[in-house]
Amino acid sequence: MKTDFLIIGAGFSGLTLAERLSNSYGASCLIVEKRADIGGNARDEYDRHGVLIHSYGPHYFRTDSSRVVEYLSRFTEWTPREFSILSYSGGRYWNFPINLNTFEQLLGRTSTGEEFEKWLLERRIPVENPANSEEFIVSRIGHQLYDQFFRNYTRKQWGREAKELDPSVCGRIPIRTDRNDRYLREKFQALPKEGYHSLFRRMLDASEGVELLTNTDFREVIDRIQHRHLIFTGPVDEYFDHCYGPLPYRSLRFEQEHFTRNQLQDTHREVIAGKAGFWQPAVQVNYPNEEAFTRIVEMKHATGQHCAGTTIVREYPEEYSPGKEPYYPMPTAAARELHTKYARKAAQLPHVSFVGRLASYRYLNMDQAVGLALDEAERLADLYFPGRRTS
Ligand code: FAD
Ligand code: UDP
Repeated sequence: MKTDFLIIGAGFSGLTLAERLSNSYGASCLIVEKRADIGGNARDEYDRHGVLIHSYGPHYFRTDSSRVVEYLSRFTEWTPREFSILSYSGGRYWNFPINLNTFEQLLGRTSTGEEFEKWLLERRIPVENPANSEEFIVSRIGHQLYDQFFRNYTRKQWGREAKELDPSVCGRIPIRTDRNDRYLREKFQALPKEGYHSLFRRMLDASEGVELLTNTDFREVIDRIQHRHLIFTGPVDEYFDHCYGPLPYRSLRFEQEHFTRNQLQDTHREVIAGKAGFWQPAVQVNYPNEEAFTRIVEMKHATGQHCAGTTIVREYPEEYSPGKEPYYPMPTAAARELHTKYARKAAQLPHVSFVGRLASYRYLNMDQAVGLALDEAERLADLYFPGRRTS
């Protein structure tokens, strides 16, 4: 078999490249995906009770890039959402990310932004250039709030102390002294109106000249398929047979539980949720301390699906080992150093591109993955089809 581009992986990166290269430049593409379905980690599905869930952890679409929104809007309409989450510790819910409401919950009375800022100023341990996630957070909020909300959650999530992790890890979480309790910072926050699967399906259906082979590891077919260029979106160390040793990743285990409407009523969960047909009061509740899981997600809050029952998903972080899914690249200096060796080797292959979260070994959000894939499609088109653009 012959194709212009052999694309490994049918996540956001692989699907964007296939759609652009085929539709804009008339290229032929074959996507090879080892899983049974498309969408990579952003996949969603209806569980056996008919509830729409995110198969591999909650995926909140957020971006400041109008280019990415315009591109994806060719394949979906959006349901605007302002994602709000909570944290649960000491037997109660707390507003999170930390904001003035959280401070008032701590004090047990009303307060002001000025009082909270003064309180923080007295507790912050100033560090000019925080070298790790602990220094980053403690330099903003001090030890008390760090210990309650960040220290143990981070240890559970990564199997490492926050002081071993890049500042950007905990730096993803905003700290605010006003009442803004939005989980995310970006201007555009939404979910695809009919779900991610429908978005992915439309991307693929719109792509003339793209074929898809699922349930297939790239090693099974790579020698049999002639191609001008390979686009690899899997783990970069796997591509090179771990020649410098395995890169570290963090894995996860997802545990689903469904509740019928009667069960919700009998266990008074609806009362706790504050809404009929729900199990918890927000789409996501973080459990920073005692529990083995980090968070419970009830996606029905965000999808707006009308159904009597509900499904919750508990997320248990796990050490990665072969056979498990490598969900997160490890954000440490040692891992980055090891990745640099792979990146140097990758740069020596002019007819192979390494694109996406696992191939570039970066903590990319969906919009960043799409933006980088759009850039790479243009670079490849200039290389292989200069002057050709059909749409
Ligand atoms: P992936 O989605 O990982 O796709 C890579 C594909 O390659 C997979 O389908 C995989 O099966 C396939 N593959 C790998 N190896 C092989 C092989 N050997 N042969 C064939 N196929 C192979 N981003 C957000 O913007 N918002 C969020 O709220 C958010 N939440 C997240 C929560 C979790 C738990 C995780 C893990 C990620 C989250 N992300 C979120 C990030 C988001 O998942 C990524 O940005 C996005 O999936 C990147 O797409 P990708 O195509 O680069 O990689
Ligand atoms: N984090 C934390 N407590 C929380 C939420 C997050 O300590 O309640 C830290 C943790 O280290 C996590 C990082 O902040 O890995 C980023 O959190 P985010 O919610 O963005 O994680 P993601 O959804 O990307 O897994």
